[in-house]
Amino acid sequence: MGSSGMKLVVVGAAGRMGQALIRLIHQTPGVQLHAAVAREGSAFVGRDAGEISGLGPIGVEITSDPLQAFLHAEGVIDFTSPATSVTFAGLAAQARIVHVIGTTGCSPQDEEKFKAASRHARIVKSGNMSLGVNLLSVLTQQAAQALDAQNWDIEILEMHHKHKVDAPSGTALLLGEAAAAGRKVDLTASSVRVRDGHTGAREAGTIGFATLRGGSVIGEHSVIFAGEGERVELSHYAGDRSIFARGAITAAMWAFDKKPGFYSMLDVLGLSQPE
Ligand code: NAD
Repeated sequence: MGSSGMKLVVVGAAGRMGQALIRLIHQTPGVQLHAAVAREGSAFVGRDAGEISGLGPIGVEITSDPLQAFLHAEGVIDFTSPATSVTFAGLAAQARIVHVIGTTGCSPQDEEKFKAASRHARIVKSGNMSLGVNLLSVLTQQAAQALDAQNWDIEILEMHHKHKVDAPSGTALLLGEAAAAGRKVDLTASSVRVRDGHTGAREAGTIGFATLRGGSVIGEHSVIFAGEGERVELSHYAGDRSIFARGAITAAMWAFDKKPGFYSMLDVLGLSQPE
């Protein structure tokens, strides 16, 4: 690690999360912004990364060339799109560096490619990098285990800003996985992702999802356990994107001296449950 800290590349530098990351890396001891990458053809290429993020000039020019950016870097933080993250995972594996992936909406095929890349890269991937949501997922697993599936229905409700392109959110799916793990069932086989029209009565044991989109909401999630005559709700409200950026930076620093592998935020935060 260099004397000014771990050298990090922010890809998707012009995005909402990219800009939050550039601001936070600048303020965080132990890390430095080594390079910032935007999409080819983006109006941000050639501009100063600090200037576009509201920091003022910091002397890092945004590039569209990931190969140049990854040279001498120690980690990449990536909140972009599934196809882009798959490409960057290959490059991070070649460079043998840390790759923190926050991108959501990835397919099972994408996940296979991340796992393959993690033979050489240290990958930390999570649908939500915040401490609060990861704690919520542990609590959700415990509640799902304690409340029997015949008498307690689980519904996961989420709301995000109007620009979000995937649904349900990566966080809603992460919470669904936690609930399914608590019940020892497979989420794909148990989940109800949409309801419309005459659906019939609710099937016991299913895990339902409901998606709201609008305005500038950063991310709100509730896991609702509905029983006869009582209801338990576990909720998280994100008030600022810096909670995800802080988690991603923590993940990069945590992975610095780890072996190549595929890690989650639960590993980073020490919240992993024994199998
Ligand atoms: P955004 O659209 O504002 O930003 C994405 C950026 O990636 C854009 O600027 C886009 O131009 C850029 N990009 C795409 N392809 C690229 C390429 N080949 N090279 C360089 N840049 C490229 O979106 P956002 O709100 O910042 O979210 C990005 C992703 O992160 C989404 O999948 C979102 O769901 C996810 N997200 C995850 C968490 C988490 O904690 N895991 C938190 C917030 C958002």
